[in-house]
Amino acid sequence: MQLALMDRFGAEQAVVFWGGRSSNESVAEAARQHPGRFIAFASISPERRAYRPAWAGGDGAALLAELDALLATGHYRGIGEINAVHFESAGFAETDYALSGPVMEGIMALARRHRVPVMLHVESTRMAELSTLLAQFPDVPVIWAHGGYTPLILARRMLAQHPNLYYELSARTWPRHPRSPEFTLLRDGREVWPEWLALIESQPERFLIGTDASHRDAASEQMKFASVQNFLAQLSPAAQAQVGRANLLRLLGPASALR
Ligand SMILES: [Zn+2]
Repeated sequence: MQLALMDRFGAEQAVVFWGGRSSNESVAEAARQHPGRFIAFASISPERRAYRPAWAGGDGAALLAELDALLATGHYRGIGEINAVHFESAGFAETDYALSGPVMEGIMALARRHRVPVMLHVESTRMAELSTLLAQFPDVPVIWAHGGYTPLILARRMLAQHPNLYYELSARTWPRHPRSPEFTLLRDGREVWPEWLALIESQPERFLIGTDASHRDAASEQMKFASVQNFLAQLSPAAQAQVGRANLLRLLGPASALR
């Protein structure tokens, strides 16, 4: 389904990581089978029940060793999506872990060592901790999934304060968001609010698109791709090229490590 949608909507490459029905291994295998289409990220995100005890404050050493070994294979060019702080949603119990804990800091240290970005889902409830973490690892690029669903003023502030922060827009381009109506950047289901457009155009090197693919059903996946195209069409050509493609490629870990 993903490859068919990419062909149809003209997407060359996509970052992929595990969800409900896949694993780090199956994601790497898909990238091996489709080189140049899929870019695998490795994840030890706490929505996987087996990973939760380590996140809950137990011993994170084994979990971090697992991530280190995955990254050492060279099959993964990033870490994520790490859902450390995620409101409850359909089929997903809330996660709310301290970002100052050994697991999160260990993930950042591994990202630094393997020179890969971290895609992090942190809601605005733990913004201060996210700021501390970003300042603690200024050389590690953090792709902030959905930009933490922040309002404009916080997006502007966080980007100004943290040069290593990248604001990712998946699920923000949908006409309606199932969890909260103000999560969308669209004012009427189509047009992006002019204030958001102005922010993105003022620093297009800090924003990335995404689809938040889940592959539960074809119609919703199609809506996600169409919503990204609707959004991109409202940017200037220069911003389009950066937000739609170049920024992600620049952030990825070294391709030379792939084997
Ligand atoms: Zn997310």
